Amino acid sequence: MDVIVIGGGIAGVATAYQLRAAGHRVCVVERFATVAQGATYGHGGTVLPTPLDVWFGPTFMHSRQGAKSGVIRKTGFNGAARLFEKQLSSWQEPQAFSRQYGLLRPLIEASRDAMADVEARFGLEFEQSNGVLYLTRSAQEWQQTQPALELLRQYEVPHHVLTPAECAAFEHSVPTDPEFAGGVLFDQERTANCPLFTKLIKQTLDTQGGVQFMLNREVEAIRLDGQRAAVELAPRLGELTSSREVDVINADAIVVAAGTGTLPLLERLGLRVPLHPLRLHTLSAPIAHEECAPHVAIVDAVKRITITRMNHRLRIAGGAVLQGAGQADKPLSEAVTKDALALLGQATHDWIPGAAKISAALSWDGLKLLSPDGLPLVGNALHPRLFVNAGHGPAGWGLACGAARLVADLIGGVTPELPADTLAALRPERFGR
Ligand SMILES: Cc1cc2nc3c(=O)[nH]c(=O)nc-3n(C[C@H](O)[C@H](O)[C@H](O)COP(=O)(O)OP(=O)(O)OC[C@H]3O[C@@H](n4cnc5c(N)ncnc54)[C@H](O)[C@@H]3O)c2cc1C
Repeated sequence: MDVIVIGGGIAGVATAYQLRAAGHRVCVVERFATVAQGATYGHGGTVLPTPLDVWFGPTFMHSRQGAKSGVIRKTGFNGAARLFEKQLSSWQEPQAFSRQYGLLRPLIEASRDAMADVEARFGLEFEQSNGVLYLTRSAQEWQQTQPALELLRQYEVPHHVLTPAECAAFEHSVPTDPEFAGGVLFDQERTANCPLFTKLIKQTLDTQGGVQFMLNREVEAIRLDGQRAAVELAPRLGELTSSREVDVINADAIVVAAGTGTLPLLERLGLRVPLHPLRLHTLSAPIAHEECAPHVAIVDAVKRITITRMNHRLRIAGGAVLQGAGQADKPLSEAVTKDALALLGQATHDWIPGAAKISAALSWDGLKLLSPDGLPLVGNALHPRLFVNAGHGPAGWGLACGAARLVADLIGGVTPELPADTLAALRPERFGR
């Protein structure tokens, strides 16, 4: 079949890879000049989410104070944003959290397999590094992480629960003063460079053939008439709209994997999904003192701030800002940006003092889509020829790879290996139209 994939982030490129592997011809349309320029560019480094870093559950946004929860709320009186917060808070109840994580779990495992398969075939090097240490500050927060620890035991995820002294003995850069509550070490989980991985997959596809990358082109609309599917391209930069015919590409199937660009494309087709954009920040800081730099990735478990070593720099990601719907694509005020970056600087100072030269750090921010039930949108929608792979939230790398396999199975008429309740929980139309 001929398949158009809209979006050249990790979700789109991984989907193109799986479609090609299943024997389809693929065209990826991306509005930037190359792949991995959206949320994928700012990736913090963690590959697959554990119950401690999915973006729902007992510890997520549990506090109204941004500094404590790691999420700065700037929703004002925006009704949609407030509803979104309310919906997310329902997953703080431990049993609801466990049920929801149980639905996501098969996708995480499918993603692990999909990534292992790609790595085994091509021997790609994308700065993989083993070991992630999650740290928790207060006794109350430690208590709130217990349902997540219970899930780790239930699903037999290899991990070690450590006392503060054991954390410091394992990772010498972490001080025990001031006191903190404890940590969880995943010595088999990995961090790596997501934009590099995405570019390497593109290179592999360029070499193999069968996938065309149409760069610097934006999809303006999707057409679904009767049995046909097509995309309309926006005029090229500088091209006069009045003097041209609309560029239309026909296909047997279309996959929308356009990150935050997914919402307007689906909305024009009549599908309004209540996903909310969340702005995240990163700092790339030079190592200040090599002896203070961590040898595993450090995650502030409650504030969801990840500190990952990438060569001679530390990548510090987090500092989420939740705004009113419609505000998200506008630049943040200087004061809010400063607060968000301060969260990153403080976490680095608290957990690995002296490791990073924050004053010389480069900052970046980007948007990612978060769904009110914490699960991505993956599957068929609205028309037999339309598919979606989006809304993976802030834990999107690994999930996008397993979701890509699922989309390729659905397009090829292959029965997916995921359980029926997980497939239903991921359906793009689950919120109604
Ligand atoms: C600061 C930050 C830190 C993060 N840290 C982690 C982490 O540690 N671990 C993790 O797993 N995840 C992390 N994430 C999340 C992860 O990066 C995302 O979930 C993932 O990259 C989303 O990939 P995507 O392909 O869906 O979206 P994107 O990377 O945003 O790609 C979408 C692409 O579609 C293109 N596009 C949109 N509309 C159109 C259109 N109409 N026509 C043509 N092209 C279009 C865009 O230009 C873009 O390139 C982080 C995200 C951020 C911002």
